[in-house]
Amino acid sequence: CGIVAYIGHREAYPLIIKGLKRLEYRGYDSSGIALLNDGLNIYKKKGKVVDLEATLINENLTSTIGIGHTRWATHGEPNDVNAHPHYSASQNLAIIHNGIIENYSSIKKNLLKKGHVFYSDTDSEVFIHFIEDIQVNTGCLLEEAVRLAMKEVVGAYAIVIMDATNPSQLIAARKGSPLVIGVGDNEFFFASDATPIIEYTNEVIYLNDYELAVVRDGALTVKNVDNILQSPYIQTVELEL
Ligand code: GLU
Repeated sequence: CGIVAYIGHREAYPLIIKGLKRLEYRGYDSSGIALLNDGLNIYKKKGKVVDLEATLINENLTSTIGIGHTRWATHGEPNDVNAHPHYSASQNLAIIHNGIIENYSSIKKNLLKKGHVFYSDTDSEVFIHFIEDIQVNTGCLLEEAVRLAMKEVVGAYAIVIMDATNPSQLIAARKGSPLVIGVGDNEFFFASDATPIIEYTNEVIYLNDYELAVVRDGALTVKNVDNILQSPYIQTVELEL
């Protein structure tokens, strides 16, 4: 039910954990985080964000890119496996997702026929497998696969995707669920609302429905589902924490 992601020069883990705690008021049953160090590592736990933190005391959490999530289960019971982030089939992609993919079962059926194996009962795991499947079949860029998937899925989503093969990139998209992008100095923040962001920057972009944001090599591009470049409106927010 809450999303926090970061790419830049700071340590992502403490920033994301703090942000997830700020989003606790939205309610959740589990939480998780994915970081890039010695490959893509996903940590997730049923319960509170502090329960997740407690399991990570001996882990190497060094990374300047990461995605974090608090889950309010809609598809699949609240447990460690169903918590986000979820992996793609290659395990190179990790996704956090807020919302519901209503046509996930028909997409899942097709992917199962193609040999995909699913570890969770979530609609969200289907979404990232679907995106990667499009990328593999067409040989397109990940952002293009996300755009094509957006044309097929029915429902609501705010997503952020991290790619182990491209550590200087995060891709985000939304339809129906909120997603705010914080624009800092050579760093970008993503969150369900501005509260996890304003400590670091007050320049924010509220992503619109059917928009896709790509941060790559320190630059942000926003386009819509029809592949038309958007000039995002950067707002200055004055919020008190
Ligand atoms: N539908 C997804 C799930 O059940 C995401 C729920 C959420 O918004 O937290 O895992």
